[in-house]
Amino acid sequence: MTKLKWGMVGGGEGSQIGPAHRLGAQADGLYDFVAGALDHRPDEGRAYAQRLGIAADRAYGDWQEMLAKEQARDDRVDLVTVATPNATHFEITKLFLEAGFHVLCEKPMTMTVEEGEEIVRVAAASGRICAVNYCYSAYPMVRQARAMVRAGEIGKVRLVVTNFSHGHHGDATDADNPRVRWRYDPAMAGVSGQFADCGIHALHMASFICSDQVESLSADFASTIPSRELEDDAMVNFRMAGGTVGRLWTSSVAIGRQHGFDVQVFGETGGLRWASEQPNQLIYTPVGGRTQIIEKGEAGVSEEAARLSRVAIAHPEGFPLAVANIYVDLAAAIRGETRDGLPTPEDGARSMAAVFAAVESAKADGAWVDARPPMFR
Ligand code: NAD
Repeated sequence: MTKLKWGMVGGGEGSQIGPAHRLGAQADGLYDFVAGALDHRPDEGRAYAQRLGIAADRAYGDWQEMLAKEQARDDRVDLVTVATPNATHFEITKLFLEAGFHVLCEKPMTMTVEEGEEIVRVAAASGRICAVNYCYSAYPMVRQARAMVRAGEIGKVRLVVTNFSHGHHGDATDADNPRVRWRYDPAMAGVSGQFADCGIHALHMASFICSDQVESLSADFASTIPSRELEDDAMVNFRMAGGTVGRLWTSSVAIGRQHGFDVQVFGETGGLRWASEQPNQLIYTPVGGRTQIIEKGEAGVSEEAARLSRVAIAHPEGFPLAVANIYVDLAAAIRGETRDGLPTPEDGARSMAAVFAAVESAKADGAWVDARPPMFR
């Protein structure tokens, strides 16, 4: 099978998410990394791309140059990953899709609901694959949880509780550090801070495991460090279309919590728990029965959990391999196969609608607000 040709926008040297994409895309031999506009500083971007093995004529100074020059090539890249800061995602994703490239966009996909809906339309019209990097959904034991819920193993889901709370912005004396400050500045981050950054991962996870969609929500936002204009802590109650009750806490001032992303699903006949810091285990308790640990790689796990696990039982299989699973499914989708579970532009648009709903609700003392994008109402 010929390899797909892959390029990146953003993800330059020292970036947080760039390495996970490079490890993920190259884990299974499905892609050749041939082009990139990796940095907002053209010279640094070109130099770093070449150090990573990209030919000088495809190590671009900016994404506009990459778009124009790749479009003109017979051997143009198949897939472009957009791993730049949030405010640039919409324009880059839209223009690459319109030019006929497949795109994997980092979350949040856009800054507004209207832009989210526009990407849904552009992706559909382009006939290209567009995915959003909700990579936690690609951990094997998250797929196990989803499969168990779908198979009715915990009965009808009553309640889903999810947290994505860390303490890495909890030091008030570091609040003015530019790497931290922009996240709480509306001019840079948009309408929401912590909820748009981490809360949407948790909300996507709830929808993903329950195979259901968020319909309405009520939010309480707090800026616990007073100099911050946007929230650094949020509590969100939500309701899903199928009647499931949802609770979500997201925070960046929860000192002592490190990654802090976990989800619990409570059904009529059992409960499940998964945490990103112990991703190989899914905790399952049947009603009236003993709590069990379902281990990644053991016999009897779902087809999806088995398919997405590549290292032997009990070996750590972490974040970059979850990202790799997104790339595996993307390659399959690009080749025309259907892959259930690949996060879609619709997911990206739903997240944005939830962000705006949460902001509106928080301003209205927690009033319940419709959290669906208008196009899905
Ligand atoms: P970062 O600030 O660490 O890195 C951003 C990189 O993009 C830098 O190398 C910068 O030079 C480059 N860049 C900026 N503007 C550019 C432009 N116009 N053209 C080309 N390159 C440009 O940011 P990060 O933490 O890596 O986050 C990047 C994106 O990834 C964000 O949208 C963030 O929300 C997302 N993210 C997702 C996850 C996840 O779990 N899916 C985790 C972390 C970050």
